[in-house]
Amino acid sequence: MRTEYCGSTDTRFLGQSVTLFGWVHRRRDHGGVIFIDLRDRDGLVQVVCDPDRADTFANADRVRNEFVLRVAGIVRRRPEGTVNPNLRSGEIEVLAHELEIINAAATPPFMIDEEKLSEEVRLKYRYLDLRREPMQKALRMRHATTRAVREYLDGNGFIDIETPVLYKSTPEGAREFLVPSRIHDGQFYALPQSPQLFKQLLMIAGYDRYYQIVKCFRDEDLRAERQPEFTQIDIETSFLTEREIQDMMEGLLRHVWKQVLDVDLAPFPRLTYAEATSRYGSDKPDLRIKLELTELTDIAKDAGFKVFKSAAELKDGRVAALRVPGGNEQFTRKELDDLTPFVAIYGAKGLAYIRVNDPSKLNEEGLQSPIVKFLSPEILGEIVKRTGAVAGDVIFFGADRRKVVNDALGALRMKIGHEKGHAEEGWRPCWIVDFPAYEYDEENKRWAAAHHPFTSPKDEHVEFMEQDPGRVLAKAYDVALNGWELGGGSVRIHRAEVQAKQFRALGISEEEQRAKFGFLLDALSYGAPPHGGIAFGLDRMVAMMAGVDQIRDVIAFPKTQRGQDMMVDAPSMVTEKQLRELHIKLRNLEKA
Ligand code: ASP
Repeated sequence: MRTEYCGSTDTRFLGQSVTLFGWVHRRRDHGGVIFIDLRDRDGLVQVVCDPDRADTFANADRVRNEFVLRVAGIVRRRPEGTVNPNLRSGEIEVLAHELEIINAAATPPFMIDEEKLSEEVRLKYRYLDLRREPMQKALRMRHATTRAVREYLDGNGFIDIETPVLYKSTPEGAREFLVPSRIHDGQFYALPQSPQLFKQLLMIAGYDRYYQIVKCFRDEDLRAERQPEFTQIDIETSFLTEREIQDMMEGLLRHVWKQVLDVDLAPFPRLTYAEATSRYGSDKPDLRIKLELTELTDIAKDAGFKVFKSAAELKDGRVAALRVPGGNEQFTRKELDDLTPFVAIYGAKGLAYIRVNDPSKLNEEGLQSPIVKFLSPEILGEIVKRTGAVAGDVIFFGADRRKVVNDALGALRMKIGHEKGHAEEGWRPCWIVDFPAYEYDEENKRWAAAHHPFTSPKDEHVEFMEQDPGRVLAKAYDVALNGWELGGGSVRIHRAEVQAKQFRALGISEEEQRAKFGFLLDALSYGAPPHGGIAFGLDRMVAMMAGVDQIRDVIAFPKTQRGQDMMVDAPSMVTEKQLRELHIKLRNLEKA
């Protein structure tokens, strides 16, 4: 029936008769001749209707935006001066000899190519929003991505295996979505935060290489860029070392970038977690930015300046500098002042800075700042030397707990880097390796797994797991790309006794271990191979490649920031009968 998609009908068809199907994008009546831009998923084609053909013309006269048409006609060259170089079909037009209205359309709430639409309207009428070119492009790029992923993994012997969506509640980190069981009164399934344990069980079952492009569910608080359901490229392999897994996964990303964007990614540099946080203040550094943090903690201990000295003396304190070359010209006084509330978001109590007039003069003339009088020439000299400061620079300082300094200066580095032209273009992926195994949970006063509790510690650190958790590094790794975490994984614990030790280190009682993870401990005792894997966030990956800021723009039917589907209106109330079947009685939440 159809000769070609509208948007792909081009000079190949000159002189031929074609049959096209599509939506009316726009209709123009040029006194006697009607032009219709007919649209489908490939783009637009111009259809011309002459009054000579009375039926065709009468139908063309009736059509309105978004009507669905069948058009049969002859492809001819557009007249001189009307060629549209922006369209694939821009050199031709179709002279219609038949025009059939297949379906009429109500007046749409917005023009399909309208650019400034509120997201609320877009999500309510998502099926219309999805007709728009940017959405068509994004979803096709998503398809190209998953196709490239499957291609590479298939080529490397990975098997796609599905895992359950109705799972069991386990303390893996995030809050879970629960699903009440009708058959088992009072019992619940949980939706998986990831197929983590299933993929490990598949390794124990001997499948060797597994992958799945899979929905994961986390009932997280409304952080800007989270969806309650999101997609991971989930991978696990057996008998490979940490480094071999990374190399194979780097190959995957390189294949995807090549297939989807025709970009050759350079080999990924490797940074330890310690190095990344100390140089960039972040474990997902944006390496496009040319600015780096300078360590000053060691010399700050002897500084007369109280702010530096007391931070350097904290057990987990840090004093660091961020030099901005040419900053003196780049910042107005007001801009510099506005950076203080910016770093305060990250907990910094202030933001000291020096304007470098002449670095050879280690006094208030050469180094302009109220803090200079508190610092000895020796320390000032060391600051100049370590940062490499030259005339015209600005040096910012952070002095606080390590986390506060890293977060504040890390964010400042990003902001200044992008806003003041210290960033280059392109893709700068890197591996972050040697993560700490545990994080101290201040609120609950106990150690928690930094990645998840199935991550293996480095072999030489197993002995410290219970006595000195802060010292233990894990066989865990992330891929960071341009300031985003693209994926993360680890080598897993494959010995039951180490897994039990891990649970003890995390303060999970023997009883709780059996109740929640008995199946894993059992499985580990039946001949578990060494194994490890990774999961990539597909939504973020595609958003980055498509050059959009929000992952909602690469998901066909996303939820809003408040976890709602505006189109189908979910979540929604259910009937008393449904609740009764599920043995659920709603608490009567009295509204104050
Ligand atoms: N399951 C982990 C996650 O979702 C990834 C992994 O360790 O493979 O973060």
